[in-house]
Amino acid sequence: MKAHSSRVGVFVRIRPTAHFSQDLIECLPDGQTVNIHHRKDSRKPEDSRKSQLSSWSFRLAGILQDVSQEELYARVCRRVVLGALDGYNGTLMCFGQTGAGKTYTMTGSTESYKQRGIIPRALQEVFQEMDKRTEYTFSVHLSYLEIYNETLVDLLSSLQGSPQLSPRGMVVVEEPSRGVFIRGLSLHPVHSEEEALNLLFEGEMNRIIGSHALNRSSSRSHCIFTVHIESHSRTLSVAKYVTSKLNLVDLAGSERLGKTWSEGQMFKEAMYINKSLSFLEQAILALADRRRDHVPFRQSKLTHALKDSLGGNCNTVLVANIYGEAAQIEETLSTLRFASRMMCVRTNPAVNEHMDPAAQIKKLQKDLHMLKEELSFYNTLVNRPRIMYEPLSEAQLAEIHSQVQRYLKGNLEEISIISIRQVQAVFAQFKLAVQEQEQKVKAQLCQTFNLMEKDQRANTAAIKEWDTRDSTEDVEALRSSSTKASTKMSRDKQSQSKRQGEGSPVSKKRLESASKSKLNSVQTPEREQESQEPETESQDSQESQPPGNEPFNPDSTPSKAEAFEDFKVGRGSKINRILKENKAVLLERCSLLRQLTEEVNAVKREIDCITATIQQHETRGGQGQYMVMEGMPVLQEPDGTSLMQLRELKALYRQRYEVLRGVKAEVNYCQHLVDQCRVRLLSEFENWYKKSFLVPEEELDITIDRTLEQGEDNQRLLPDSSESFYNARYRMLKRRTALSFTPVQRNSSARSGQRRLPPILPVS
Ligand code: ADP
Ligand code: MG
Repeated sequence: MKAHSSRVGVFVRIRPTAHFSQDLIECLPDGQTVNIHHRKDSRKPEDSRKSQLSSWSFRLAGILQDVSQEELYARVCRRVVLGALDGYNGTLMCFGQTGAGKTYTMTGSTESYKQRGIIPRALQEVFQEMDKRTEYTFSVHLSYLEIYNETLVDLLSSLQGSPQLSPRGMVVVEEPSRGVFIRGLSLHPVHSEEEALNLLFEGEMNRIIGSHALNRSSSRSHCIFTVHIESHSRTLSVAKYVTSKLNLVDLAGSERLGKTWSEGQMFKEAMYINKSLSFLEQAILALADRRRDHVPFRQSKLTHALKDSLGGNCNTVLVANIYGEAAQIEETLSTLRFASRMMCVRTNPAVNEHMDPAAQIKKLQKDLHMLKEELSFYNTLVNRPRIMYEPLSEAQLAEIHSQVQRYLKGNLEEISIISIRQVQAVFAQFKLAVQEQEQKVKAQLCQTFNLMEKDQRANTAAIKEWDTRDSTEDVEALRSSSTKASTKMSRDKQSQSKRQGEGSPVSKKRLESASKSKLNSVQTPEREQESQEPETESQDSQESQPPGNEPFNPDSTPSKAEAFEDFKVGRGSKINRILKENKAVLLERCSLLRQLTEEVNAVKREIDCITATIQQHETRGGQGQYMVMEGMPVLQEPDGTSLMQLRELKALYRQRYEVLRGVKAEVNYCQHLVDQCRVRLLSEFENWYKKSFLVPEEELDITIDRTLEQGEDNQRLLPDSSESFYNARYRMLKRRTALSFTPVQRNSSARSGQRRLPPILPVS
């Protein structure tokens, strides 16, 4: 909704008088400007000639002189009252010195209906307008607050149903949802103009009684009569509703502290009034100054209570009541100054809209129901099958699951799309299927990996030892790690004895051969394999013979350690050889690295020594002292030789360091190659071992048969089919050797059921 105004509406009302001072108060014909001409009286008689006439001009929203109550209401108040019915907060304030006509303007004369003031007229307008606006339901509550000497008084507390005042009395409270309100102030629902007027008169009566009881004038207090309006649209959203407050404020007399009030209660009252009105002025100045982000509302009860009713989103109107007589010209001037300041306050009135959550839910449910009906109507028109918009039932979900499964297996050509819910459920099923598949593969891998990992750990440990020992020891270590714990100890002993007896010569031999090899002879396992393929084949065929040409026994499954030994000389001989060579190079580079490190360190030590000597000499020289011990100088003067030597050493250091760096890089590279070879040897061995000994014969037979069908030459060309190739060979070998088996061997083979196969060794 549009804002009604962007400024506070300030009007001046001049109390009718027979002695209107036209000389001092000049109302211009524009109806908005009032000029005040005032000659300041000097107290000293000799200065009276010096007194100067000063003029002030005030341009306000309107000057109301000899204006009836009705006209004043129409010009000043109507739009604010109507705005309150639209949801805008509104504030109407009367400001001025005592007797200037504030109460007359706000409440009016109680004797004449015609002279009734803003409040009764506003109440009448509110109820009349409510009756007119049939599309809304309204609820109206009234409250009447008096602020006397910074004390809050509920002028309607005498009425039935008013809350019992808390021991702390009433307090001004701010809450985000409700804004500013007075806790403890009674709010009275009213349904008609009459009811509302009754409350107004009740409050007025209480105000008069209170002032008599306290022996004070009613104009010594501020009074705020508030109309609280809440409206709900009957046609639009039921969840949305608007609220507003219409504050009708009759302020206490603004006259300054005079001589007559210099004592007792009146002095105290005047102090409080002056204070609260000056705080009101400060708040208004702060509101008028757009650069200020803090407005001191909390300084007085009045400003705090009116916090959301002065500027901001509120329609605010000030009526400045002034006397027309010359005697009151100073107070008139002061009132007009206040009024002109109030003119500077800008407002951005906004409707106070709220949402009722319960009503909102109801409305959304209704909307949803309507949309579903609309959809089903549309579906019927386009001949779509009946679609469920409710969440899918368990049976429907099961059906979708089966559809997806059939679709994945290829038994269902397509899944027809029916509804968004169904599409989502289908996707969910796909996701589930993928996850299940992943789990399956993972479990399989885990099974294999665990086995491999266990064996590999043992093998790796063995191979590591092999780095420093003979290959025989390595086999022994592998064997011992593969056997049970009970036999581990005895085997370790055996391996130890072997290590002592055989290990050293072989190691030496290997080191010797390793020292001869060069770094550039190091090759990656792949390249080596490719380049030496024919040679390896022939080597393999030679090395693949079981040691001592032992008869081939298909019944016995060798231990892993034995199999590994066989593998290294047979199927894995290539990679084993490469590994050996690379390790030899690595060893050689390592020893070179050690040697170079020692040399570099030695040079560094020499440099340090010479540097220290030179430094010591320089220090002593600088101090002009030579320490002599037993007649010999401890330090000799450094000659050119020392410096030369230092230079040479430094150059040597740099040179050796460079070499060292290069060798270090070579060592790293060799180490990488060795690791690669090691991993490959182990993985190839694992594959080979698994295929050879752990695969059931039936499966192997299928593999072998297929392999045989494809032919030997073809297999050689395919790197990944090398195992099939060896399996085929084994099959052939098996057929051959079966013929030469002894009856005993045959029987034993039959007894064991032959689930496990002997090692597959390549034969020429
Ligand atoms: P205030 O509340 O500012 O102290 P009141 O409203 O009580 O002053 O006015 C003082 C007297 O002046 C009252 O008797 C009131 O009837 C009278 N009066 C004030 N303004 C007018 C006016 N515009 N027309 C007629 N009488 C007025
Ligand atoms: Mg009054």
